[in-house]
Amino acid sequence: MKLVSYQKLDGTWQGGELRDGEVFTLGNMTLLDIIKRGGKIDRNEQFKMRTVPKIGLPFRPPKIFCVGRNYAEHAAELGNALPDKPLIFSKYPTSVIGQHETIEWHPDLTQKVDWEGELAVVIGKTAKNITEEEALDVIFGYTIANDVSARDLQDGDKQWARAKGMDTFCPLGPVVVTKDEIEDPHNLSIQTRVNGQLMQDGHTSQMFFKIPYLVAYLSRAFTLEAGDVLLTGTPAGVGKGMNPPLFLTTGDEVSVTIEGIGTLTNVCRVLS
Ligand code: MG
Repeated sequence: MKLVSYQKLDGTWQGGELRDGEVFTLGNMTLLDIIKRGGKIDRNEQFKMRTVPKIGLPFRPPKIFCVGRNYAEHAAELGNALPDKPLIFSKYPTSVIGQHETIEWHPDLTQKVDWEGELAVVIGKTAKNITEEEALDVIFGYTIANDVSARDLQDGDKQWARAKGMDTFCPLGPVVVTKDEIEDPHNLSIQTRVNGQLMQDGHTSQMFFKIPYLVAYLSRAFTLEAGDVLLTGTPAGVGKGMNPPLFLTTGDEVSVTIEGIGTLTNVCRVLS
């Protein structure tokens, strides 16, 4: 299934299923409700929306785990070696925005905002201390994320909390694809375009630490819960790695496309 979230006239968000370009309702449930139910829906209770509604924020994850330097060429372009164990950091639930929402920041905070297109894993159930073999059972599906990063804060702060976790710095969605539709999450092309220009042209086969290993690794330290999201790292082609470096500014449009999932698009705005 391809699941989305759309905004009703009263401003609340409702889960929907995307089929052949049309949106079908999922009872009166949010997308997070559906994830918590393991994706169980009753198609007899669905009805087709008369018009395709505006698709937006898929859901607000309880936790957002990220892994840094998980693609060798990306680590190298920023002058880093591959880590010998996963480099785990977090973004905050309030950093999440949906399709076509605006990535924004104040120039007093950062002037070096960069893109990182990433495959995101959506956790489907509570889990602790699981093995790699058990990891697939815990995964609900996959979506797209942009791990927006303030490079000046990343370099200047000892922790990455501000650099990675600011409001609007985690565009997510627009579609959550259930795991049964993704035969191999390590066999997907992943591309990022800025104003239509191809910047990142990677493949999830290039991931160093694979998804089952990462999910099991995280579960040893944290209780995984339905709706938690794991950003699996970005391939080469970020702005800081360009010569000269290139950073985002007002009006720039960033699109991340992952094979079998779709395209996540957001526009940037520098606040004043
Ligand atoms: Mg990243």
